[in-house]
Amino acid sequence: MKQRPIYLDNHATTRCDPRVVEAMLPFFTQEYGNSSSPHHLYGRNASEAVDAARESVARLIGAKSREIIFTSGATESNQLALCGVMRANRMRGDHLITSATEHKSVLDTAKRLEREGFKVTMLPVDAYGDVDPQLVEAAITNRTILVSLMAANNEVGTLLRMREIGKICRQRGVWFHSDAVQMAGKMPVDVEAMQLDLVSLSAHKIYGPKGVGALYVRRPEVRLEPMLIGGGQERGMRSGTVAVPLVVGFGVACQLCADDDPAEMARRRDLLETLIVDELDGVTRHGHPTRRLPNNLNLGFAWVNGSALLINLRGVAVSNGSACTSSETGPSYVLKAMGVEDEEANASLRFGLGRFTTDEEIPRAAIEVVETVNRLRALSPAYEMHRFARSRI
Ligand SMILES: *Cc1c(COP(=O)(O)O)cnc(C)c1O
Repeated sequence: MKQRPIYLDNHATTRCDPRVVEAMLPFFTQEYGNSSSPHHLYGRNASEAVDAARESVARLIGAKSREIIFTSGATESNQLALCGVMRANRMRGDHLITSATEHKSVLDTAKRLEREGFKVTMLPVDAYGDVDPQLVEAAITNRTILVSLMAANNEVGTLLRMREIGKICRQRGVWFHSDAVQMAGKMPVDVEAMQLDLVSLSAHKIYGPKGVGALYVRRPEVRLEPMLIGGGQERGMRSGTVAVPLVVGFGVACQLCADDDPAEMARRRDLLETLIVDELDGVTRHGHPTRRLPNNLNLGFAWVNGSALLINLRGVAVSNGSACTSSETGPSYVLKAMGVEDEEANASLRFGLGRFTTDEEIPRAAIEVVETVNRLRALSPAYEMHRFARSRI
């Protein structure tokens, strides 16, 4: 049998941990009660399992369990945070602040709110994909309700200065929401230390099942208008029968993250980078040199065609840009916002290591990348010219 490609697309999604699957199974077949039916054993068992999961999700970010709302994923959480807060607080103001490199589920929601008459400020990022806290401060007006900035970028891994931004928001009396999908579980996230008021999480980015996420909402301070109404589940903030098996899996996934070592992850990631950069010239690393996710590596390769690179890289499963926008063609909007030229942005690869990445896979992946780039460069007139120019120096 042909070997499957090495999976290095863990920012797009992760393999569900077998221990998570194991924990979920009984909730499909034996404990199939509705967690809103407390009057019989099935419902009670389901409800207790949901409570326990809520507790572990809360613990992951230093929150209280009653502040966690289960959703279908971070796309829904982001939408609930932005629409829910802006619509519920219309009497107080109409201004939202976010940034150019947010996940599409934030950007598209911001656009929708703009069409509804809200004012949106899109903060720029620097060449590292970082948002300057001073810019956040300067953008706040007396009409500002909410600042929404991601904790870690899903393409280049840049970590924003959450504590500084949180402090500014708290001082100025505006709420602070963060899409912490990529940071939570990989590095410590603490809603108190970072002074966060709302946080979006997704299970399938941390070795849990797809189709479940959470929104942390600081209680009782933050006023929120629900999007899904009906049965009044999740304290009325998210109606619909709770996806008990998925929620149970999410809870276990959160617990298991405590055993992962970010330093170990970064060591493997750095090795991958070294092995590639040592063998190739014309490689640029995108993202912050130090303040970035331990599992992220985003590299630009000069003198190769981006789509050819992705197509020819058969032995490694990676992506260029984010999977979430892969239906769109063209260079990544994140890299463009960082000032990367179109051609280079196109020829960039995002490597996302994960819990199941092995030491043995790193050199194999590096060789595959190096060989593919070299093969494509051998056919590239631009590379020929570069070599010729260099040989004459
Ligand atoms: C994957 C991702 C999302 C979307 O999460 P889903 O649970 O798939 O809806 C949102 N934000 C970031 C940063 C992500 O990486």
